Amino acid sequence: MKKIGITTTVPVEVLMAAGYQPVDLNNVLVTDPNPGRLIAIAERAGFPLNCCSWIKGIYGVCLDYGIEHILCVTGGDCSNTVMLMEVLRLKGLNAIPFAYPDRPDPSLMRTALEGLAAALGTTLEAAEGVREQLHEGRDLALKLDELTWRRNTVSGKENHLWLVTASDFNQDYRKYCRELRDRLEAPPTRPPYPAGELRLAYIGVPAVYAGELYDFIEKHGARVVFNEVQRQFAMPEPGADLASQYANYTYPYSIQDRLKDIKAELPRRNIDGVIHYVQAFCHRGIGDIVFREAVGRPVLTLEGNDDFFLNTHVKTRVEAFLDMLERSRQLLKQKTSLRRL
Ligand code: SF4
Repeated sequence: MKKIGITTTVPVEVLMAAGYQPVDLNNVLVTDPNPGRLIAIAERAGFPLNCCSWIKGIYGVCLDYGIEHILCVTGGDCSNTVMLMEVLRLKGLNAIPFAYPDRPDPSLMRTALEGLAAALGTTLEAAEGVREQLHEGRDLALKLDELTWRRNTVSGKENHLWLVTASDFNQDYRKYCRELRDRLEAPPTRPPYPAGELRLAYIGVPAVYAGELYDFIEKHGARVVFNEVQRQFAMPEPGADLASQYANYTYPYSIQDRLKDIKAELPRRNIDGVIHYVQAFCHRGIGDIVFREAVGRPVLTLEGNDDFFLNTHVKTRVEAFLDMLERSRQLLKQKTSLRRL
């Protein structure tokens, strides 16, 4: 299959029906042994220093890894992608636009999907067939998610990795399914995490320093049991058809649409506090104002730029947040026992 880069989670069923193997460019960037060099490629080409590192990194990946076809999401993700697409075309690459509708309406979504299918020379019917084939992988990913928060047997980092790679199934759907099935069927390698640990939600785009963040949190007696956007990549509400599935997928739509999902999961997963990650120079950072008002839990907002590791500043802020959550919990326990006396 020909490779096609994707700038965010997209209806991969249509791409696969058209004979393409989707490659999530963000995942390639973050797993590269030296992602900084990919960002430098973009900066040398003229991308501004104050442009988001994901956009610059995606550009670097396309050029360095020889990705010739790229599906650029111009609506429902990032306005920077519009300009990225222009530059990719200037470099002779085949950059194809795709826009999510401005609201989660299945009939609008159907029109968008039909347009994409026609542009790639396939049909929605063929894509529906691929959707059936992909069910197992998504079901397995959601099973692992359930083990994370209900059985407490999966780490926040492992949860993040399996869910975030559901965007392109690590470029090999069969291998993804086989490895995840083996993982779920294998005997546990460790006892469940303690029931009394602090439970966190992670909302927002995946962090550039995700590789270190989850481990750091767990070393300090807490665990992420809800990865909001990553879970969405596994399509938790698949609906009756592709149009419904991608209308139910919350990330491309308004914060209020995302909040419906977040506010249902916070109590269900017994969440003590929320980490909201924002990328430097990203318009989504403004949404932090809305999330802080709406989630009804203490919120720690973390920002990252092109630092693919946890710096001391971020570590200190995470430690202070966890300390505050633990003290609040102890205080609440004391008050409850005093009331009982
Ligand atoms: S983090 Fe923000 S600015 Fe960067 S690619 Fe994503 S949506 Fe765009």
